[in-house]
Amino acid sequence: MLPIVALVGRPNVGKSTLFNALTRGRDALVHDQPGVTRDRHYGVCRLQPERPFVLVDTGGIAGEHTHLETGGLAGATARQARAAAEEADLVLFVVDGREGPSAVDDELMRWLRKRDRPVLLVVNKTDGIDSRAAMAEFARFGFDEALPVSSAHRQGLDVLLDDVLERL
Ligand code: GDP
Ligand code: MG
Repeated sequence: MLPIVALVGRPNVGKSTLFNALTRGRDALVHDQPGVTRDRHYGVCRLQPERPFVLVDTGGIAGEHTHLETGGLAGATARQARAAAEEADLVLFVVDGREGPSAVDDELMRWLRKRDRPVLLVVNKTDGIDSRAAMAEFARFGFDEALPVSSAHRQGLDVLLDDVLERL
């Protein structure tokens, strides 16, 4: 069985864009508006062909508007997203480097901490901004390491991939 990596993050941080970049899928659509993403939920990353892994876009499963803070994560689809994250060998916690941490990020972080799963912090949208400053904003999440990427511009994906494979 292939290892499973789950993308977790609040709506609009770029999970689907990252999913597409890593799986090079074309069926997934990315929209500007949260709540309208219609995408595949599962794909296989074969960027390192000898070490494929399954990638799960939990945002897609959750329908993008089930914030923990709004009492979301109710209903079958949200439970599926949780289950995906709980089963995953590794969780990529995706945040928006432009907007910085939000209350929903804090909620997700608290939830992830309770799970006994390795988590990697991925700071997306670092194209055209000071990525060090962006990452520093997330220091309070307590990760040893954060990975700056731009999913839209395919920046930082090689380092991310190395880090992911190291942990699988
Ligand atoms: P999701 O809701 O987490 O799945 O986020 P999406 O992948 O749908 O992306 C939300 C919005 O952020 C879209 O307008 C994307 O084009 C934009 N976006 C995603 N990744 C990046 C990035 O690396 N840089 C920039 N500047 N925009 C991005
Ligand atoms: Mg999405």
